[in-house]
Formats: sequence, structure tokens, C-alpha cells
Amino acid sequence: MVAPDFETHEVGNQVPPRTGVNLYVSDPVLAALVEDLPPPVVDSLTQHGAQWGSAEMADLARLANTVLPHLKTHDANGRRVDLVEFHPAYHALMRRSVGAGLHASIWDAVGDESSVRAVARGARIYMTAQVELGHLGPLSLTSATVASLGHSQPLAEAWLPLLRSRRYDSRPVPTGQKTGALIGFATTEKQGGSDLRASSTRADSMGDGTFRLVGHKWFVSAPMSDALLVLAQTLEGLSLFLVPRFQADGKRNPLKLMRLKDKLGTRSNAVAEIELPGSIGVMVGEPGRGVSTIAETVTLLRVDDALAAAGVARAALAEAVHVVRHRRAFGSPLIDQALMTRVLADMALDVTAATALVFRLAEAVDHSQDNPAEAAFARLMTPVVKYWVTKIAPAIVIEAMECAGGNAYVEDSLLARLTRDVLALPLADGPGNVLSLDVLRVLRRSPEPLDAVLKVIEDGLGSAARSTLNVLRAATAVALADEGSARILTEQLAMTVAAAALRRRFPSVIADAFLETRLGKPWRSTYGMLDARFDARAFVDYVVPRM
Ligand SMILES: Cc1cc2nc3c(=O)[nH]c(=O)nc-3n(C[C@H](O)[C@H](O)[C@H](O)COP(=O)(O)OP(=O)(O)OC[C@H]3O[C@@H](n4cnc5c(N)ncnc54)[C@H](O)[C@@H]3O)c2cc1C
Repeated sequence: MVAPDFETHEVGNQVPPRTGVNLYVSDPVLAALVEDLPPPVVDSLTQHGAQWGSAEMADLARLANTVLPHLKTHDANGRRVDLVEFHPAYHALMRRSVGAGLHASIWDAVGDESSVRAVARGARIYMTAQVELGHLGPLSLTSATVASLGHSQPLAEAWLPLLRSRRYDSRPVPTGQKTGALIGFATTEKQGGSDLRASSTRADSMGDGTFRLVGHKWFVSAPMSDALLVLAQTLEGLSLFLVPRFQADGKRNPLKLMRLKDKLGTRSNAVAEIELPGSIGVMVGEPGRGVSTIAETVTLLRVDDALAAAGVARAALAEAVHVVRHRRAFGSPLIDQALMTRVLADMALDVTAATALVFRLAEAVDHSQDNPAEAAFARLMTPVVKYWVTKIAPAIVIEAMECAGGNAYVEDSLLARLTRDVLALPLADGPGNVLSLDVLRVLRRSPEPLDAVLKVIEDGLGSAARSTLNVLRAATAVALADEGSARILTEQLAMTVAAAALRRRFPSVIADAFLETRLGKPWRSTYGMLDARFDARAFVDYVVPRM
């Protein structure tokens, strides 16, 4: 081991930076999950991986999280402008991601990608999240809100051409002057986020097809969007409105940005508290049907949250493995020390399972239009997958930080940022209890979703599935009778479908190890519980190969 030399300032036993890694080529798990995609799509994913794994992108991500967004409420002459100013690095990240279609390609990808839109975009979200999570917020929101806009033909016709543009146009100007647009989503208020019925913002008809909205929203992740989808109370009940930044006559729509949240993580992106002091909006969908009009938007946001969480978990594992391959302690590289290998292998199992699970969900989203069983599978599994993957990702990131040692606790380390950022994912778009209640809601509505999920498990696990299916049926009956046990069912569904997804695409020993340690044994809450029957080193080298 080389000790520090105070004359030459050479540093020993420190780790070289992990940059210039193609995030696609270096990830056999992702490659296995998308191997059936048409070759031109795989080529485009390879290019995406090269771009986002570059030192330049790492630097942009670091800068965008160092110089934070700034709220500018007024101009020099005292006029309200309600703008958020971002570091140019944030705009550079947005430009690349809009160019790659992360805000729209699920709706309009053509050619080879047209039948695999959700999986292909999912792979790009998964790789991009490994580098910078914050800027993905407004892009996910734009992609997901298109589903709600589809409830109004005139609005869809007016906005879709701009939303589909691959040009990032951050100028706060009327839509007629824009070359591309983004849309945000504002439902949460001070007195309630999960319970939307508590919304107090009111919308009154102006008699000309527009509504005047008065009220507030408490968390707005894309305050610089060209329009917001806003829930507000009408005589008929909670309804959805599109509130553009500029009105039809080109005047600013009154919409006040009151404060930016001083957030724990995803700091590159602004989350604002806003007031609607008579903002003009147009209704989307039926009056009083706001909650059902946003249902598909919420579903798509949850799919993105899970994809991003799997990406962050992957990045953390890859970072930890990189460190322990280079760092020595007690006379040998850390990677060669039994306890370290076992911890990493155990984490690698969850990372592989989470990734297999999110891509199985994306596949179901792709087939939902023409395959009722896949649509039913996606209905039940979206809250399940969002629940499990966003919940295990923080545990993986924190364990990765421990593997990498004290340097990982310092802001220079990617792991420090990942640790803060990943904690947004379980909270946003439905926390764990709300997701578990949604699981029960889907189960109560019709038997098809559970049947579809059990069929996928049976196909994946074969004869091993028999007892598992009985356990799941029993857990379903218990959860339907006792709401308080819904998390148990949600977690079991997640892990069992993950095991089936592993069996489909990976060496059987991986699914075996996952099944035995996650489903065959009593509950475990920390990593390093894999026993010696499994080749821990082989797992680590398979999931994170040396490059
Ligand atoms: C980074 C970030 C970005 C966000 N961006 C946006 C945005 O762009 N637009 C937007 O509208 N919102 C946004 N949100 C808000 C987010 O959607 C809400 O925080 C979330 O919906 C939870 O609502 P709440 O905070 O009011 O918590 P509450 O609704 O008060 O919930 C608190 C806890 O109670 C639990 N709970 C609720 N109901 C039940 C029940 N019946 N049984 C058992 N437990 C229950 C929940 O699971 C949660 O754990 C954002 C939040 C974050 C952190």
C-alpha cells in the first residue's frame, strides 16, 4: 500500500473517478432485458449510454446541483415576472433529454421503436437517472400529462405538436412563439396531497368556455412549464384544468410563484409553491371527473418513478463496486474480502430484480393497447412496482455509501447526491400506504388483474409457483379483509413477480438466490444475508463487470 507522500503530494490507495463508462455497454442486466428490441433501437440505447456515461454529463449534473435554481418574482421595474432562473448546466441536461424524447417518445416514437416505446424510453430514463435525477421531473410530468390532455380533443390538437417537438425551448413566451413546450401537474395543496377531495382551489365559469381559478398549490415540480394541469373545485365537483402561462391574447396568465422549496434532494430542479389569483384555465375532460381524468397520468408518473429508482440503485451499486475494486484494506482489495463481496452480491440481487421488474412493467405498458391481460397486469403491478422499487432503492444507495467509505459522505461523491435525490421517489406520486390502498382498489374492482399477475408468476416460475400462488391468494384475501395488512401483500406481489421476471431473462441461479433469500426465509432488512451456497463474487462480476 502506498502512503501519502507529502513532498510529491502523490496519494495512495484512493480510487480513480468512474467516468467515461458507457451506461448501456457496461450493464449486462439492462442488455439482457432489452435484447429482443430491434437492433436500431439497441444502437440508439448504446449511444444514449455513451453520451450519459461521459465525463461531460457528469460535470453538467454536478454543476446543475451546485448552483441552485433561483426565484425571480419581479423585474427591475417592479412588474411581476414569476420566473425561475436555472444554471446553464440544467438547461444543457434538459436540451439533451428533450432531444432524446424523454418527454414525449412514449406517444410518438416511430419506425422500429413504435411497438416498444415504453421499454425503449424506459431504458433511457433508467440510464439518465443514473447521472441526474432532478431534471427528469419536468420531462416525466410532460410525458404523463399527455394522457390527461387526450380527454380534450381541441386541447390535444393545440398542444401536441409543441409537446412532441424535440427542441427544448425554455423561453417564457406565448405558445405561438415557441418551438417546444413542457407541461406540469399541480394537485397537492397545503391541507392535503393524498386526499384530493380536500382540494380548496375553486374554478368559476367565465361563460366563454374558460374558467377563473382562485387558490394555491403546494408542490409544483415544473414551475417553468408552458402550462400546468390543475385540479380545482367546480359546482360538479373536482375537475381538471389546463392553465397556460400565457393567455390566448398573448398576455401573461396571472399565476404567482410564491417560494421555491428548500429541498433535501433533486436540487437541480425547482419545486414551487404557487398561488392562482384568478388564473384563466380551460377544463380538461368531464366536469366533476378530475380525479379519473388524471388517473392515467398518475400511473405513468409511477412507472417513471420506478424506472428512475432502479437506475439510481444501479448507479449506486456500480459506484460501490468500482470503489471496492480499487481500494485496499487489511492487505488486500476490499472486493476480495468475504463480507464485502457478500454484501455487494446481496445488493446486486435486489438491483437485478428491481430492474427486471420495472422492465416487465414497461413491457406490459407497451402491450396494454391490444392485450387485455397485459393491461390488467399493468393496472395491478404499477402501484406494486412503484412501491417496492422506490422503497428498496434508498436502502441500496445507503449501503453503497457504506461500502465506499467516508469519501461517499462528501459532496464530491456521486453517492452523496444519489442518497439525497433517491428519497424523493418513494414520496412523490403516491407514498407507500397510498399505493397499497390502490392495490386493494384494483383488486376490489375486478378479478382480472390478480388473475393476470398470477398467470405471469406461474409462467415464470413453473412448478415452483404452486405454493407461492396459494400464499399470494391467501395474502390477498387477508388484505381485502384487513386493510392494515396491504403492505404485506404488495411486497409479496412485487418480489414474486420480480422472481418470475428474473427467471425469464437471467441465469437460473440468480432467480434461485432471490427466491430463497427473499421469499423462502423470514423477513430480512439489511444486506449481506446471502449464504455461502451462492457464489457471491460471480454475482457481483456478472452484474457489474470490470470494464
Ligand atoms: C420532490 C417532490 C416533488 C413533488 N412534485 C409535485 C408536483 O409536481 N405536483 C403535485 O401536485 N405534487 C407534488 N408533490 C407532492 C406529492 O405528490 C405529495 O407530497 C404526496 O402526494 C403526498 O401528499 P402529502 O405530502 O400531502 O402527504 P399526506 O397526504 O398528508 O400523507 C402523509 C402520509 O400519510 C399516508 N396516508 C395518506 N392517506 C392514508 C390512509 N388512508 N391510510 C394510511 N396512510 C395514509 C401517506 O402514505 C403518507 O405516508 C411533490 C413532492 C415531492 C417530495
